[in-house]
Amino acid sequence: MADVLQSVDVVTIGVGLTGTMAALELGKLGLKIVGIESGAPRETVPDFQSPAIHDELRFSIRKAMMQDNVKQTVTFRNSSDQTALPIRRWQSFLPGTGLGGSFVHWNGQTYRYQVADFIYKTHLAERYGANFVEQCGPELIVQDWGVTYDELEPHYDRFEYLLGTSGQAGNINGQIVPGGNPFEAPRTRGYPTPPMKEPYFGAIFRKGADSLGYHPYPQPSSNLSQPYTNPEGLELGQCVFCGFCERYACEHFAKASPQTTMLPVLLKMPNYELRTNCQVLKINLDSTGTQATGVTYADATGHEYEQPANLVLVTAFPLNNVRMLLVSGIGKPYNPTTGEGVVGRSYSYQTTGGATVFLDESININPYMASGANGTVIDDFGGDNFDHAQLGFIGGQYVGAIMTSGRPIENHPTPSGTPAWGLEWKQAVARHYNHTILVGQYGTSTSSRLNYLDLDPTYKDAWGMPLLRMTFDFPENDIRMSQYIADKVVQIGQAMGGTSIIRGGTTRPYTTTVYQTTHNAGGAIMGADPNTSVVNRYLQSWDVHNVFSLGGSAIPQNAAYNLTDTVGALTYWALDAIQNQYLKSPGPLVPK
Ligand SMILES: Cc1cc2nc3c(=O)[nH]c(=O)nc-3n(C[C@H](O)[C@H](O)[C@H](O)COP(=O)(O)OP(=O)(O)OC[C@H]3O[C@@H](n4cnc5c(N)ncnc54)[C@H](O)[C@@H]3O)c2cc1C
Ligand code: SF4
Repeated sequence: MADVLQSVDVVTIGVGLTGTMAALELGKLGLKIVGIESGAPRETVPDFQSPAIHDELRFSIRKAMMQDNVKQTVTFRNSSDQTALPIRRWQSFLPGTGLGGSFVHWNGQTYRYQVADFIYKTHLAERYGANFVEQCGPELIVQDWGVTYDELEPHYDRFEYLLGTSGQAGNINGQIVPGGNPFEAPRTRGYPTPPMKEPYFGAIFRKGADSLGYHPYPQPSSNLSQPYTNPEGLELGQCVFCGFCERYACEHFAKASPQTTMLPVLLKMPNYELRTNCQVLKINLDSTGTQATGVTYADATGHEYEQPANLVLVTAFPLNNVRMLLVSGIGKPYNPTTGEGVVGRSYSYQTTGGATVFLDESININPYMASGANGTVIDDFGGDNFDHAQLGFIGGQYVGAIMTSGRPIENHPTPSGTPAWGLEWKQAVARHYNHTILVGQYGTSTSSRLNYLDLDPTYKDAWGMPLLRMTFDFPENDIRMSQYIADKVVQIGQAMGGTSIIRGGTTRPYTTTVYQTTHNAGGAIMGADPNTSVVNRYLQSWDVHNVFSLGGSAIPQNAAYNLTDTVGALTYWALDAIQNQYLKSPGPLVPK
């Protein structure tokens, strides 16, 4: 029997990026807020300090910062005629746990989406005709978001200034700015801090891309190029290129994270209470099923509590958001046979790939001197920046030299044909370690009727709740897109002076055994129609008006770019609606 606690105004399920943003924003209004986080508390000092934080075996290989698979994982299969099995060790994507969530061990690559991404269905129909998507793949699902880039722009701006993002603007109020990305959507002002210094591998990529007429620019980075004080009054340091960024926390206060940009302010608020090592089991509903009454959670001993709340914010990472809605019975689950239902529908990912470019021994890359987001990229093949009319696919990828580390266990590129072990392998590693550049491809993942999330009928977590089941493979459309761009990447590699090149590009079947990206998206998508979306344009549940699901789960189909800048903008957008509309008159913000 759960102990019933005193009611509060707001509860957040998870205290990662979105949970911290929500609590800080609503806490400023004086609301009583409880943040329930399944992982442990942690701070830059002492938890993220050297030498312990630079332990490659512990953090990269054994995944010390990730959700504990023994307690809770995801089951996986490529198609619905297979039996899903639990992912026993995270590889393909790495959901985090602990105060600050995945936003502690992220890379910091900070992209906005484009104007067309938010009106993707309308845009593609206008540019290529109403049947084009169907011709590219009858299983594809493409939707507009119900919110536009212009509506989100102030919130993007605010989020980037919270983080202190370092970058070179390419388009300010419609004016193309030399040195930036000429394809980017218009922004109202430049980045808060200047771009990172270009690394040598970035300069070599720039030269190659330039020679082919492309438009290289510095990747926007939330590893900071210089010290910065954010609007919350918190001071961030300058990145020292330690090479232990993704999968690690920053010891230098130089990577934007909840710890560096928000938590010191939030944790001082008397109206905020953080409860760590507590797992939310479900959202409780009243007898009508249309209003949440709070959440039930278990503490570290397994003791259960009921936390009543007026407003429940699901801020648990996209996959966990979807699972929380499913186990709580909020929204109609997606049925892939009939196409009806919405929760779990339109799960998408991100396509990745790229070429390994081996260079002459006289060219020293020094890959260990790196940060999570430092690099040079081109957007010439991003999204719909190039004409798709004759190509038979939709979508695109940005391409760039973004070498995030030269850590010894993970990084030892060798040319094709090299044995996988022994003397010859060692000699090849010694020859190529310092003379190889990885040119990556990162891009769109189109939603499909065949890909979805639901509750596993067999496997349960440590608390007896069903695991989330993922049914996913890349649609053929996305493979055609990625392989088309892989050819362009090989040409760039040749222009960079590559002596040999391993060609990349996304392939099928999708596997969970190789790291690709943690940009899991969709499953509880936003939209203008309750028949095809789980939350409305303000990320409010269509079915239970005092539940808002914040995060990448709202994204209808993943655009080319890493999604967190958009997650931040959407979160501020939703919080603005909660503050200025919902709290004044609680109820559905959009009629059903
Ligand atoms: C290795 C890696 C690299 C990345 N690099 C980039 C990048 O370069 N650029 C980019 O744009 N994005 C990147 N990301 C993605 C970025 O980290 C996420 O988009 C962002 O953190 C998502 O915020 P969130 O609030 O949805 O989830 P999180 O920040 O993960 O927070 C969710 C929190 O909820 C908690 N939680 C989950 N379930 C429960 C429950 N039942 N009860 C209580 N608490 C719960 C979790 O423990 C976690 O702390 C990267 C992610 C990873 C893992
Ligand atoms: S690379 Fe820079 S931002 Fe990343 S952890 Fe190291 S010092 Fe911090």
